[in-house]
Amino acid sequence: MEISNNLGNYDQEVDKIIQKMDGVVRDFKRFSLSLPGRINVAKTFLYSQLNYLGSFIPFNNEQIKRFNAKIESFVKGSLNISSKRVFAKKTEGGLGLFEVGNFLNSQKCTWFRYLTENNDYWKEKILKNVNYNEWWYVSESNVSGGTIVKGLVGAVEKMVNSCIKDRKFFWESKLAYNNLIPIRGRRGITLDYEFFGIAAIEEIPRIISLKTSTLYINGVLLSWENFVHISGININRGNYMILTRAVEILRASLYGEERIQPEVKFLKKFFKKESKGSKCFRDITNLRTERYIPHNIVKFAQTTDSVISEEQSQIINVLWDMNFLDNHTRTFCFKLHNNTLGLNSRVSKFVRGHTSNCTFCNIGEIAEEMKETPLHFFYNCEYSEPVVMYTFREILNENDFVQMTRSDFFGTFKFDNDDKNMVLCLIALWTKMYLWKARSFNTLPVNEQALNYIMEKIKDTYENSKKFRNMVINSELRIRF
Ligand SMILES: [Zn+2]
Repeated sequence: MEISNNLGNYDQEVDKIIQKMDGVVRDFKRFSLSLPGRINVAKTFLYSQLNYLGSFIPFNNEQIKRFNAKIESFVKGSLNISSKRVFAKKTEGGLGLFEVGNFLNSQKCTWFRYLTENNDYWKEKILKNVNYNEWWYVSESNVSGGTIVKGLVGAVEKMVNSCIKDRKFFWESKLAYNNLIPIRGRRGITLDYEFFGIAAIEEIPRIISLKTSTLYINGVLLSWENFVHISGININRGNYMILTRAVEILRASLYGEERIQPEVKFLKKFFKKESKGSKCFRDITNLRTERYIPHNIVKFAQTTDSVISEEQSQIINVLWDMNFLDNHTRTFCFKLHNNTLGLNSRVSKFVRGHTSNCTFCNIGEIAEEMKETPLHFFYNCEYSEPVVMYTFREILNENDFVQMTRSDFFGTFKFDNDDKNMVLCLIALWTKMYLWKARSFNTLPVNEQALNYIMEKIKDTYENSKKFRNMVINSELRIRF
């Protein structure tokens, strides 16, 4: 590394990192890895190039974009999904890769576990203006000390600001300079020191370390008079109203009518020296308040005419990540639920002249033209339906079988036994895989062949994974091999 004192030759370092990443990409391209394989390579060999310098040097947005693009294009390979999906959480239908900016920010946060240990220059700069017992309420705008120190503080500030998006962390979020507090209809208002009515420089630490919980007592908002009295902050009444109105909107969206004030301790825990890794920081910055069904599952439910709840969507979206499944199954699973399988109805939209009709119906010379949609191909097709029914009739008892619905087959099963539900979910996946395989050989599916294929998959997984073995045993399904 050849960084000069004033960090003059930064860009040169970034170019070197990019070159190294390109080297890794070149080396691994030769192996034509599966999707899970490429994800593992990215996690092991690409992020590690960034980690060393990136955990203290502030890369600019342009540079972060370049890194993200490198990782994205390598991991995606020929998979046709949006960049947003590459970096989205798995439960949200993404691949769960770390967005580089957020990843490096959380790495920077880990430095702060050692903040109070020795008296290094950068630590003094930071501690000078904060409440020593709650020093994580720092503000970038309040430290002097060059780009690196500012970058470190900015990372913690961003993370602590994000606390306001989640129930668990809400009470610990920082108020001053927190741009995630929605001051509606009053744009231009910044929650800066002036807003809080600063009179003397000594008040700054008090204002910086102001957190949501300071505004409440037993879950109820403090009156303006009480707040000024308790906090010693001389905010004017109008500004206090603006602030509390905005914070109340957030509180209500997270807690509704519930009036509780949980213990404030989570952040402290993360900054303990014994804490490991940076995932906890990344998770806070990544928080989102709205609960919703991820976009990919909304579309999947539409194209399969199924009802899939938010809770079920989370199970389906992490299914491909089960590490006891083989890479082939995992890749198929991801494509299926992300609506990127090359079914004719989809391909015909991109390739002019390509048929949109069902492959099986074509082979079987069915006169009526049926579009090869996910619903038709995997369930309604007159060649697929008997296979699905045959398989599940073999595995379920009569009573369970009559209860089975299309939404179970495309979503998740709803029996009381979670292990049973999970095994059935995987059997439904392997059934779809069998149909997909028959299609790729241009042959019609056959009942016994399908059941053999599925039992073979179950057997392999059963022998290789204790976790799956236990699931199968607890499921009490009729599985024999
Ligand atoms: Zn068909």
